[in-house]
Amino acid sequence: MTGNFDVVVIGAGAAGLMCAIEAGKRGRSVLLVEHAKAPGEKIRISGGGRCNFTNLDVQPKNFISGNPSFALSALRRYTQHDFIALVDRHGIAWHEKTLGQLFCDGSSRQIVDMLLQELREAAGTLELGVTVSRIEKNDRGFNLSSSLGSLDCAALVIATGGLSIPKMGATGFAYTIAKQFGLKVTPTRAALVPLTFDPRELDWMKPLAGIAVDPARVACGRTSFDEAMLFTHRGLSGPAILQISSYWREDNEIVVSLLPALDVFAMLRAARAENGKQALQTVLALHLPRRLAQAIAEGHDADCPIADLSDKRLRVIADAINACRLIPNGSEGYRTAEVTLGGIDTDGLDQKSLMAKSVPGLHFIGEAVDVTGWLGGYNFQWAWSSGWAAGQAV
Ligand SMILES: Cc1cc2nc3c(=O)[nH]c(=O)nc-3n(C[C@H](O)[C@H](O)[C@H](O)COP(=O)(O)OP(=O)(O)OC[C@H]3O[C@@H](n4cnc5c(N)ncnc54)[C@H](O)[C@@H]3O)c2cc1C
Repeated sequence: MTGNFDVVVIGAGAAGLMCAIEAGKRGRSVLLVEHAKAPGEKIRISGGGRCNFTNLDVQPKNFISGNPSFALSALRRYTQHDFIALVDRHGIAWHEKTLGQLFCDGSSRQIVDMLLQELREAAGTLELGVTVSRIEKNDRGFNLSSSLGSLDCAALVIATGGLSIPKMGATGFAYTIAKQFGLKVTPTRAALVPLTFDPRELDWMKPLAGIAVDPARVACGRTSFDEAMLFTHRGLSGPAILQISSYWREDNEIVVSLLPALDVFAMLRAARAENGKQALQTVLALHLPRRLAQAIAEGHDADCPIADLSDKRLRVIADAINACRLIPNGSEGYRTAEVTLGGIDTDGLDQKSLMAKSVPGLHFIGEAVDVTGWLGGYNFQWAWSSGWAAGQAV
C-alpha cells in the first residue's frame, strides 16, 4: 500500500484513536497505523479490565509537567464531560468507584469498541502490524517509509505513548522522532509504579504481603496521598504508593501513616487507662488488620499487656504507625509502571494544537508528551483531550 493522506497518525492507543476520529469527522483523509496486532491494548487492560476512563474532577494539580499549565487548553476544550457524553451515546454503563474515578460497569473492551466504531463512522483507515522505519519532511508535508510502503501526508501525529510495559509494545519511538526534528525531550522515568525496598525492610514487609490498609497516608516531601496501600513481596504498592511514586526520587524518604485519621498515641493511652490487661496487639487490631497489628506489637517487643508500656514506648509505637519513615531502594520500573513521567518538552509544542512550534504539521499527543496524570482516570483524559485538540488542527 502506498498513499497520500491528509493525516497519518502513528500509534492506535487512546490518544491516536481520538485524534484520528476527530480529524476524520472534519473530512480529512486519515490513516492510523499501529505496530501491534490490536489497537487500544492499554485501554483493554486498564483499570483492572474496567477502564478508569476519566475523573469527574479534573484540576491542574492532577497533572505533573515541566509546565503545569500546558495541558489546560486541551483539557478545557475537550473535558471529562465531553468524554462521558460520548460513552453515554454508546450506551456504555459506568459508575463512580471512588474519588471521582469513573469505570465501566462491564468490560474496558467496550471503550475500545466504541472508539473503533467512531473511527469507522469518521471513515478513518486503521492498519495494524505496521512498522514505520523512516520519516522525512518535504515541501508537501511528510514522507514515511513503512512496511505498508511509502506514505505521504500533510500532517503527521505521533501518538506512540511512553515506555511503560514494553511487553505490550511500548517504545521510545516518539522521543526518537522528537530528537530527529530537534525537539527537546525531558528525562523520562517510570511512574505510577510499586516501590521496592532493601532486604532489611523486606524482612518485615514480606510476611505482610497481601495486607491492605485503606486509607493510608503516604507522603514524600510536601506531597501526600490518602488512599489504599498494599504490602507486597517486593515492597509496597496500592494507589497511595503508585501516586507517590510519581513524586519520589532516589534517596528520598517516604513517610507512611497507617491510621491517618487517628491520634494513635492518645488512643493507646486511653486504651491503657481503660483496660491495662489487654495486649497491645488486641488494641491495635481494633484499628488495623490483625496480622499487621501483631507484626507491629512483635516488632516493638511489646507482645505484653498494655499496662506494662510507658508513655515513652507508646510514643515510639505510635510513631511507627503514623510516622513510619522508609527509604525505597527503587521501583518496579517500566515493567509494571502505568505511565512514563517526562517526555516531549512542552516548550516546543503549541498548547492548542499540540504541534511542534519549529516543525509545521508535526504533532505529538498523549503520554509521549511531558504531561503525566495522577492515578484516577487523568491519564486517559489527557489522551482524549490532547488527541481531540490535535484532531481539530490537522
Ligand atoms: C496496566 C495499566 C493500567 C492503566 N489504567 C489506567 C486507567 O484505568 N486510567 C487511566 O487514566 N490511565 C490508565 N493507564 C495509563 C494509560 O493507559 C495511558 O496513559 C494511556 O494509554 C496513554 O495513551 P496514549 O495513546 O498516549 O498511549 P498508548 O495507549 O500507550 O498507545 C500508544 C500506541 O502506540 C503504539 N506504538 C508504540 N510504538 C509504536 C511504533 N514505533 N509504531 C507504531 N505504533 C507504536 C503502541 O502499541 C500503542 O498502541 C494504565 C496503564 C497501564 C499500563
